[in-house]
Parts: sequence; structure tokens; C-alpha cells
Amino acid sequence: MANTYSINGRDYTVVDHYHDVVVVGAGGAGLRATLGMAEQGLRTACVTKVFPTRSHTVAAQGGIAASLQNMGPDSWQWHMYDTVKGSDWLGDTDAMEYLAREAPKAVYELEHYGVPFSRTEEGKIYQRPFGGHMQNYGEGPAVQRTCAAADRTGHAILHTLYGQSIRNNAEFYIEYFGLDLLMSDEGVCEGVVAWNLDDGTIHRFNAKMVVLATGGYGRTYFSATSAHTITGDGNAMVARAGLPLQDMEFVQFHPTGIYGAGCLITEGVRGEGGYLVNSEGERFMERYAPSAKDLASRDVVSRCMTIEIREGRGVGPNKDHIFLHLDHLDPEMLAERLPGISESAHIFAGVDVTKEPIPVLPTVHYNMGGIPTNYWGEVLNPTAEDPNAIAPGLMAVGEAACASVHGANRLGSNSLIDLVVFGRAAAIKAGTIIDRDSAMPTPNLGCFDKIMANFDKIRFADGSTPTADIRLKMQKSMQNNAAVFRTQETLAQGCTEMKAIWGEMNDLKVTDRSLVWNSDLMETLELQNLMANAIPTVVGAEARKESRGAHSREDYKDGAFSGRNDEEWRKHTLAWVNEDGDCRLDYRPVVLDPLTTEEEGGIDLAKIAPKARVY
Ligand SMILES: Cc1cc2nc3c(=O)[nH]c(=O)nc-3n(C[C@H](O)[C@H](O)[C@H](O)COP(=O)(O)OP(=O)(O)OC[C@H]3O[C@@H](n4cnc5c(N)ncnc54)[C@H](O)[C@@H]3O)c2cc1C
Repeated sequence: MANTYSINGRDYTVVDHYHDVVVVGAGGAGLRATLGMAEQGLRTACVTKVFPTRSHTVAAQGGIAASLQNMGPDSWQWHMYDTVKGSDWLGDTDAMEYLAREAPKAVYELEHYGVPFSRTEEGKIYQRPFGGHMQNYGEGPAVQRTCAAADRTGHAILHTLYGQSIRNNAEFYIEYFGLDLLMSDEGVCEGVVAWNLDDGTIHRFNAKMVVLATGGYGRTYFSATSAHTITGDGNAMVARAGLPLQDMEFVQFHPTGIYGAGCLITEGVRGEGGYLVNSEGERFMERYAPSAKDLASRDVVSRCMTIEIREGRGVGPNKDHIFLHLDHLDPEMLAERLPGISESAHIFAGVDVTKEPIPVLPTVHYNMGGIPTNYWGEVLNPTAEDPNAIAPGLMAVGEAACASVHGANRLGSNSLIDLVVFGRAAAIKAGTIIDRDSAMPTPNLGCFDKIMANFDKIRFADGSTPTADIRLKMQKSMQNNAAVFRTQETLAQGCTEMKAIWGEMNDLKVTDRSLVWNSDLMETLELQNLMANAIPTVVGAEARKESRGAHSREDYKDGAFSGRNDEEWRKHTLAWVNEDGDCRLDYRPVVLDPLTTEEEGGIDLAKIAPKARVY
């Protein structure tokens, strides 16, 4: 039923909905959670700002990691070891065990739901090598663990999960922009408020459980492989609800974004035999990572490329990028297994990959940090007494969440598996904790007033600075000050700049006042969200006085672990951002206990004890 709500003398039409579960986001994580909830007969709504199959997951090329052993020896323990090492010992041990153990099950489920995986001669799911995935607890050689549907794996998964969700009667609210969480005065999440982009109405989705699956925040940076819609909206909702974000300083640069355009060339290319060269024609990765070479993990390869460029061995007229060669590979194999990237290279770099190298540069690709959760997807609200305390009524999955399985650096193909393993886990858990017979929550009107006050304020913002100007300033500042290599100086500069840019948000100018397909208003709300992600990223990075994974500080690179300081810094950063853009930090211990002991069939803990991370 529709009601009229008035604020500042203006009327809004408000519609209430009641569901057991409302999932915000229809990427791989949101759809897997939606499907799992709906399959159990929970009344499930999925709210999404873009059409489900346009979510960024659709762009995932390379594949999804699981130790199926279709192409050679592998085990979940090896997969877990690689994930622990990839995380640079910042991931939570229980969550990483859960991921590696459940991965094969989750992939076979996808197969049975209908994902058209590429096949081996015998008809098994095809698997390719990927960076950082090795046999024998990192000893090597590379393992073939990454299951692929050509180079359109995300596309295949997303379409399949959307179809299955419809089949199970999940209700979709498409092109609804989630604004903020409805929180009770006791801190229980009871729903989410969304703006219907198509007709301008406001919707209150009252629910017993809200699942945030809103993806990463790559667009805080100037050059990113992510879609323009990747603006960290769910993270910002959590921050505005007074809950902390975790490990935001860990931002992954992918080694091979197309120079200039930023579009991704999958690591699967190097998995299939592609390699990087500098201006001297040298395969420089052999020098830095003698064993894994071009398949070392992403942070390592990105740093090596940056060093080559800095030392004057970059390619091109300005010596500012690197070449990726595929021209030695069989053109038939390229056409069959990597058709999409051949097309991207043609369109965005103007090269024929069978004849010429692709110009590439490290580009922002993935956010390891996000909303802290346990391995069931339940959002954490850590306290001094209980670092693993739960925020009731709220879950988070996918790139928005920090479970944490990727720690300080994610391995390629470990995100798609994270989406489906934890999307599924959240559904399993929700099935056990949602009381179907209990009464639906009614909206907390005080909280709703605050949400509408912000919406109305932004809609009528009448300053002098256009949204695009502030966004560009933020993106440039992040790119300059919190990049592949960081120093105290650049990070301190970043903190000062970002604080000033936050201040400029008071001078925003929104020109379109309408409520229907108002992209000016939507982009401004997204900018507000981006800012709530950018601030904890740079503040957390300034505070972390070590190098770990993707957080590489030139002022901390000595010692046996090349600047990693486990004694003081093997802990998660928690960041609370307030309305003035001030960021308070605290820390939470890394979970060191596995799910199962070695006697129970778990991993030998000695195998995953911290050591130097070399490839
Ligand atoms: C080009 C590219 C290639 C990649 N390739 C791989 C790969 O091969 N293997 C791998 O493991 N990983 C890969 N990754 C990483 C992986 O694809 C992403 O981490 C993952 O897809 C994120 O999925 P998600 O479900 O968390 O979010 P997304 O797919 O980003 O979906 C976010 C959803 O949230 C919704 N949403 C956001 N904000 C709001 C709001 N305010 N209101 C309502 N809805 C909202 C959106 O509509 C969307 O449906 C790749 C990433 C990129 C960018």
C-alpha cells in the first residue's frame, strides 16, 4: 500500500513490503544467496540497481577455483595453503578452510544448475592454471584448478543463477537504488530503503534478514577494471549505520589492465602461456619469481611491472607500460579459450593478439576489505569483549564482504568461488535462524526520517561544485596517494586531501531535481558512498606501518618477511566513519583456529605457519 511522506514541504510516495529476506545486489553473490533462500521457501526479495545480468560479475573472464582434480593432482588442503599464502597471512583460518573445502561442492552445484563450463576430452569441467595456485603446498608446479566457461565464466554463472532464482519464485525489484538500512534503536537491522529509479517512489523493504551483496568500490580510483556502478554502496550503508568496515586499505591492482582504457585482460591469458616483457624484450618475471614466473600472485606481478617502468624499462614512447605477448600461442586455442580478450584487445588497444603484444598496466581491480563477517556471512559488530560479536539481522556476501578469505591479497579465480560458497553459506545459515512464524518488523520511523533527510538534502543540493568534479578529485587523489607502492608521505598527503574533498561535499551542485531516471542524483548518492569507502582506505593505509600483500610500503620493506610485521600487524583494521568524514580505527585479531583439527581430517597447521612469501 502506498502512503505519502512529507519532508521539507515536499511529498514522497512510500510503499511498504514485507519479506523474510531481502538481498541487496544481484551479482554472483546476491543471486546465489537469493536462490539459496528461495529454494528453502523463504519469502525472498532481491533489490538491484542494475538489471541482474548487468552486474559486474558478468565481466569475470578467467574462471572459478575449486580443487576438482580434473586435469591433474590437487586437494582442498593445497587450495587452502595457496589462499593463506596469497592472503599474506591476514585471512581468517576458519573462513579459508570453509572456502577451500566447500569449493568443489559449490562448483558441481553450479554445473547442475546449468552453467555451461568448457569441457575436457572426457567431458569433465575444464580447468586452467592461474596465478598463485600451485601443487604441493606451494612447491609447484602450477596446478590446473580454475574452472572456466571459455573467458566468459562470470557471464555464464550469472545467467544461470538468475534463471534458477526466477524458477524458485524469488521476487526481483530491478532498477531500485538501495539508499540505507532500516535499523532499530537497539541496533538490529530490520530492512532497507530503496528508490525506484523508474517512477520515483520510495520503498521500505521490511525484513527479518537483510543481505548486502553490493560488490566492491573500485571506482574510488581513477583507473579501474570495474564497472562504473562499482561504488561501494553497501559498505557505505554499513558505515552510516555506525558499524565498522574492515581491512579497507587492501586494494588489489591487476597486472594487466589495457593501457589507457583500463579494461581487464584476464590472468587466464598467462595461465594459457602468455607472458610479460619489458623494453629490452626480457621476460622479467623470471628474474623476480623464478618458480611461478608470470603466474606469481597479482600484487607481486604488479609491483615488478611498476619497478621495471620506474627503472626505465617500460615500453611505448613514454616508456610507461609493459607488453603482454600471446602471439606465440596457437591461434585456434586463442579463438576457442580466450575469444573475449582477443576482442577486447582489438577494440580497446587496436591490436591483433595473434600478431602483436597487448600494452598493459597495473589497474585497480578488487577490494579485499569490506563489511566484516564470519564464514556464515553474518555481519560482525566487534566489541572489546567479543571481537566476533554479531550485528543481528544483517549479512554480507561477495566482494562487499570481508569474511576474510582474501586477507591482504586475493588470488585470481578465488572471488567467483567466494561468491557462490558464501552466498550459499548465508542461505544455509539464514534457513536456521529466521523464524518464519514471527511477526514482520515495522519500520523505525526515526531511522526512516534520517534516511529521507539525506536523500532530500542531496536531491536539492544547491552549491557550486558539480558531482563529476568532486568525483574526479577523489579518484585522482586515491590514484596518486594510495597506489601500488605507498609511503608515509603519500599516505599522509592522501588523508589530508580526502578530508578536504569530504568538506567539498557540502558545496555539491545537483542540477536535476526530478525523481524519475535522475542519473545526476544517483551519481551523487554514489559519490557519497564512494567517499565513505575512500576515507577508510587511505586512513587505514596510513596507520598500517608494515608491508603486507597489496599494501606495499616503501618505508617498510626490510627484514625476513620484506616489511611484513606479524608481531604487531597480523590483525584486521576496523574503521568507523562518521558524518564529518572522520575515521576512527581499531583492530581485531585474525582468526587462527581452523574448523577442524588434523585428527579430524583438517590441514596440518605447521603447513600454514607464517613464513616469507616467495613465488
Ligand atoms: C573485469 C573483471 C574480471 C574479473 N574476473 C574474475 C575471474 O575471472 N575470477 C574471479 O574469481 N573473479 C574475477 N573478478 C572479480 C569478481 O568478478 C568480482 O569480485 C565479483 O563478480 C563481485 O561480485 P558481487 O556479487 O560481490 O558483486 P557485483 O557482481 O559487482 O554485483 C553488485 C550488485 O549489487 C547491486 N547494487 C550495488 N549497489 C546497489 C544499491 N545501492 N542498490 C541496489 N543494488 C545495488 C548491483 O545492481 C549489482 O547487482 C573480476 C572482476 C572484474 C572487474
